[in-house]
Amino acid sequence: MGFSLIDVHAHLQDEQFAKDLPEVIARIGTEGPSVLINTGTDIPTSLEAARLAEKNPNFWGLAGVHPHDSKSWTESSAAQLEKILGHAKIVGLGEIGLDFHYDFSERNVQMRVFALQWELALRLEVPVVVHVRKAFDEFFGIVQEYGAPKKVMLHCFSGDMEIAKKALNLGFHFSVGGALTFRKSEETREVFKFLPVDRIHIETDCPYLAPEPFRGRRCEPHFIVHTFRRLCQERNCPPEILGPRLVQNARDFFSPKLKIEELP
Ligand SMILES: [Zn+2]
Repeated sequence: MGFSLIDVHAHLQDEQFAKDLPEVIARIGTEGPSVLINTGTDIPTSLEAARLAEKNPNFWGLAGVHPHDSKSWTESSAAQLEKILGHAKIVGLGEIGLDFHYDFSERNVQMRVFALQWELALRLEVPVVVHVRKAFDEFFGIVQEYGAPKKVMLHCFSGDMEIAKKALNLGFHFSVGGALTFRKSEETREVFKFLPVDRIHIETDCPYLAPEPFRGRRCEPHFIVHTFRRLCQERNCPPEILGPRLVQNARDFFSPKLKIEELP
């Protein structure tokens, strides 16, 4: 493509990639992201994010316990996360949050585990990546009660314009994935047209939420180009301007360490 793209949120540790991960990584090629951040959903996948980043110069990682996995939280989880956050290639806490759409963990457990990790982010002053689905009132309630870390990213942002404005005023960042390309995502497109360019990020959330024309298939990192092109089109911004801008946004948000290494 001639310039760099980033995927700020992938899950290459997912079991859906267990059989062919080397092929998936090879397919990233020149059309896919040059920088990729694998996101933890529990302690083992957070450790795996660090391991994948050790093996691949342009991979980075996040460590956190997903709302779906809140039920896996134990007394030692916070200490384990803190240790993983000390890894040189782990650049933030994530993903954490509240998901009242699927309710895979009980809501009171989700609230407790989210609050504990939110406190951890505040104490350690690390960037935090949040998953909120159908629970924005509860999320903003915790923000009000505890305050917010300096760097908060709402990944796969699914809120409406009113929620976007509220989060924008709090200084939060926003990430969009395949949903940007879905026919019914008019509101998401409106939001990502409206947001200032320095607050937006792009992701695949692979293996989930493949963009059109691959909707329903296992998502892979190189599919990012379809979401990226749609974002350029919606914002009326040339790809060679927006691509590097999104890499810079991620560096500003996570760490200046997110340099692109020339691969042999
Ligand atoms: Zn995710």
